[in-house]
Amino acid sequence: MSKFIMEEAQRIPVYRQADVLVVGGGPAGLCAAVSAARGGASVVLMERYGYLGGMATGGYVLLLDCLDDGRGKVVIKGLVEEMIERLRKYDGIIEQPEECRGSSKQEDILKWRRWGATGGEDKIVRYSPVVDPEMMKCAANDMALEAGVDLLLHAWFSKAYVEDGTVKGAIFDSKSGRQAVLAKVTIDCTGDGDVFYTAGAEYSTGNLPLGLVFRVANIDLDKAEGYLAAGDNAKKVERDIKEIRGVSGGYSFGELPMGFFMHGNVSNIVWFNTTIQGSAVDIADLARAEIEIRGAMVRTMDYFKANVPGFEKAVVIDTAPQVGTRSSRMLTGKYVITRKELMEGAAYEDAVVAAQPPYRQFDPDHPLKLIPYRCFLPKDLKGLLVSGRCLSGDFGAIEMLRVIPTVMLMGQACGAAAAMAVQGGVDVGDVDIGELQDNIRAQNVYLP
Ligand SMILES: Cc1cc2nc3c(=O)[nH]c(=O)nc-3n(C[C@H](O)[C@H](O)[C@H](O)COP(=O)(O)OP(=O)(O)OC[C@H]3O[C@@H](n4cnc5c(N)ncnc54)[C@H](O)[C@@H]3O)c2cc1C
Repeated sequence: MSKFIMEEAQRIPVYRQADVLVVGGGPAGLCAAVSAARGGASVVLMERYGYLGGMATGGYVLLLDCLDDGRGKVVIKGLVEEMIERLRKYDGIIEQPEECRGSSKQEDILKWRRWGATGGEDKIVRYSPVVDPEMMKCAANDMALEAGVDLLLHAWFSKAYVEDGTVKGAIFDSKSGRQAVLAKVTIDCTGDGDVFYTAGAEYSTGNLPLGLVFRVANIDLDKAEGYLAAGDNAKKVERDIKEIRGVSGGYSFGELPMGFFMHGNVSNIVWFNTTIQGSAVDIADLARAEIEIRGAMVRTMDYFKANVPGFEKAVVIDTAPQVGTRSSRMLTGKYVITRKELMEGAAYEDAVVAAQPPYRQFDPDHPLKLIPYRCFLPKDLKGLLVSGRCLSGDFGAIEMLRVIPTVMLMGQACGAAAAMAVQGGVDVGDVDIGELQDNIRAQNVYLP
């Protein structure tokens, strides 16, 4: 039987008042904040950790999946392109050269598979840059601060502040105690829908596996990859790893021999992905993921050191600061987009994002997937937009739309809408869609 205690009512100091409050500083939140600020709104960006980037930086995800149309032409632009340009200046990005993008040459495919830029199913190299997580944190700070965003770091959102069906800001906890930020528009970019959940919006759940990426150095990579590519060695390693309950990876690249790890932005340092079943909004599952994956990591490394030539002196240099969370709560908003519609290339009058699916779901007949504005709007609440991987969709749709470049475009669109709502003195549900689409296109975003 559950036991409860009652919390005393509390007077909560208002820390800031702004036009727009963005909760969650991941790729979606960063772009929402920058876009709203550039649109003329005063913006507070609330983030529980001390840095921006969410899974892209703190989860060591690193791969900006599929920015081209499958034939080498870059179609994902806007703030994604700007982030890439900034990372180039920081020397913090690995990119497939132009002449390789869309290439079906075997040598190109074999090379770029190592950076995850193509999969076993794809017969071509995709333009999928790999970022340096530390430099992306710096570039994200630059983008936010130059746009005039008020960065509220180390602030853990705890509750939406709702009056008469309108979200009017949020309460957060921090080392300075419990405080509030009031705003005309709030954008939920927490990935897990913490804002809409506490505001009482309708939602569903869908759990893709949790994970904890770890990085390994001190390897003779040529030797290791040569060994794994020869004969049945990779298959034997895969069998053995399964038997010792090692890291299951998540890289089943068909015939790819080196599907156990991926190259990152530093030579001779590779990263291992991991998967474990569990919910990203269940504290017991999160703790279990941290503990069990570390155990599996040690077993895997012991095995690799003893059995895979080139790994004899391998060292685990770090695990990602954040457990990787792929999906959890999904808004049931004004429109629930489905995987079926995305696969069929459905069109919408209020489309505000044209996304590229991850490489596995690439369909040359419908390369771009459109997302209508209604997917960011809760059914019965005003003053709130929901952006990033917790938008309104079915589980299959979220799986396709959750990649970093797509959520960055979602953030950019929602930020623009929030600024327009503030300027027009209307609710975010009532912005003029045609004007919003023109606004987004004017920001160097492709929207058919
Ligand atoms: C292991 C793994 C591998 C992946 N591989 C790829 C890949 O190869 N390519 C690709 O493009 N995508 C990949 N993804 C998916 C991608 O990383 C995420 O879907 C994407 O980062 C989602 O962005 P977001 O901004 O919606 O959410 P997140 O990146 O999760 O950001 C949410 C932000 O909100 C903050 N936050 C959450 N709750 C609170 C709170 N209560 N208070 C304050 N702040 C809060 C978080 O700290 C975080 O900064 C992968 C994901 C994982 C986990």
